[in-house]
Amino acid sequence: MKNNDVVDILEKFADVLEFKGEVGFKVNAYRKAARAIRDLGDDIEKLWGENRLGDIPGVGKALQEKIDQFLRTGHIRQLDEHLAAAPKELFQLLQIQNFGPKTAAHAYKELGVETLDDLQAAISDGSLARLAGMGPKRVANISKSLELHARAEKEISIGLATLIVAEVMAFLQEKAGDKLLRLSPAGSVRRCKETVHDIDILAETNYGEEVIRLLTEFPRVTRVLSAGATKGSVLLDDRYQVDLRAIQPESYGAAQQYFTGSQAHNVRLREMAKKQGYKINEWGIFRGDEKIGGKDEDEIYAALDLQWMPPEMREDRGEIEAAAAQQIPELVELDDIKADLHMHTTNSDGQHPLEQLVDYVRRRGYSHMAVCDHSRSAIYANGLSEDRLLRLVRDIRALNAQLDNFVVLAGIEVDILPDGSLDFSDDILRQLDFVVASIHSAFKTDPTGRTLAAMENRYVDVIGHPTGRLIARRQGFDIDMERIIAAATRNGTALEVNSSWDRLDLSDINVRKAVQAGARISINTDTHHEKHLSMMALGVGTARRGWARKQDVINTFTLDQLRAWQKRHR
Ligand SMILES: [Zn+2]
Ligand SMILES: [Zn+2]
Repeated sequence: MKNNDVVDILEKFADVLEFKGEVGFKVNAYRKAARAIRDLGDDIEKLWGENRLGDIPGVGKALQEKIDQFLRTGHIRQLDEHLAAAPKELFQLLQIQNFGPKTAAHAYKELGVETLDDLQAAISDGSLARLAGMGPKRVANISKSLELHARAEKEISIGLATLIVAEVMAFLQEKAGDKLLRLSPAGSVRRCKETVHDIDILAETNYGEEVIRLLTEFPRVTRVLSAGATKGSVLLDDRYQVDLRAIQPESYGAAQQYFTGSQAHNVRLREMAKKQGYKINEWGIFRGDEKIGGKDEDEIYAALDLQWMPPEMREDRGEIEAAAAQQIPELVELDDIKADLHMHTTNSDGQHPLEQLVDYVRRRGYSHMAVCDHSRSAIYANGLSEDRLLRLVRDIRALNAQLDNFVVLAGIEVDILPDGSLDFSDDILRQLDFVVASIHSAFKTDPTGRTLAAMENRYVDVIGHPTGRLIARRQGFDIDMERIIAAATRNGTALEVNSSWDRLDLSDINVRKAVQAGARISINTDTHHEKHLSMMALGVGTARRGWARKQDVINTFTLDQLRAWQKRHR
């Protein structure tokens, strides 16, 4: 299907028009058409062949001609002409937050900024700051965004990495069969770090060479970087590096420990081992020449009188001390989760109607869930008016009457407005079973004060994606997390770990602070499409990185426990 290519070229067209200073409605026409094609169930080439491009909403005559040209020749002549008079790396430049099309045009005309490197140079030599309307604060923001972007280019999100690992492991398992004894991710993937540099997998096997060769046959491999008897390294889709190590059974645990890291954790561990007269490496733990462990990972830790530590904790953030004192907390697990408490249906911007979503969620084995569609001010997301919300509440109540052993809570993701008030009155909120309150606009307008105000409302159960960050795309709000956590603890409002892989918000560090202060957290997928439901694992991983236990997480509560918890702040 060429749908994605068409979406891509229309988005580019919109970008270049914006760069040229075209009026909004012209630009929006391209974006709208791109969105319609992205959501299209059909193959666009099929529609094109049947002369039915005009059936796609928002695709008028002019756009039909351009799409036709693209599908015939792979180009749109007008776009090529526009691009000839634009910076070389226009699309990359426009991805930099705070560096909009107007600024890009200005910087191109006045300073000749054509590439990301040019932009960096214009920041460093002060010329960007001297442009009219710029000033040091804006330049500092652009500089930070540029840094984030550079990191994102090199890093892979944990969501994507997890999918790749699952795919590669399933392939190896199927092809190698009995020759594989154990198979596991290592490195940052096993620690569930929010972004990873490359993807490490360990295979326990006596047939190293053969297993490594199988990796090179994985269908998405575009380049084999190396392939030997103990290690293979490949590039998938020209972009993602996967390293596979074949390990003999007697060293598998040691290799797991060693390659899981983190580096800081391992440095501390090796120092400790040395002091006690041991040596640790990827093959085992040794006293002199004698190997005293290495088949299983816990042998390494046990030899040093340490409790085994969940991989997510291994960042040298106090876990070694806790393990020495036999005080590793029992962390929350995916199996403890009984409910997903923030999800969208077609009533706002979700992809599935209510019944269908409920059906998907039930199949995950949960006992309850909360539907939290957007509120009226979220116009971009088809937010609910009061009438539509109350109708949805009635639909949910009616649906519950038909369900056995499962309860759907009628909720809302209510916007926290720029003045700190909520998008619906208490009169409306009181009629709902569950309320998530989130900031979706005016990010620079006192996010701390607004969040604190929302937490004062007795009906607010959870603050959604509390910092608003988008990993690698948008920094979080300038928010005073200490005050938010203190208020959450005091008022009994939970803070969300939004599990969407580009959010993971709260982050691990903030979860740790919240849990230490005694605040509750709520791990939710913010599902808009059924495929998002599995991201619960990433939220749980992030919570584990923040040392959260089962009792810290309201999604592990039974429905009765949840209601009792709500009573304390409602
Ligand atoms: Zn939201
Ligand atoms: Zn949401």
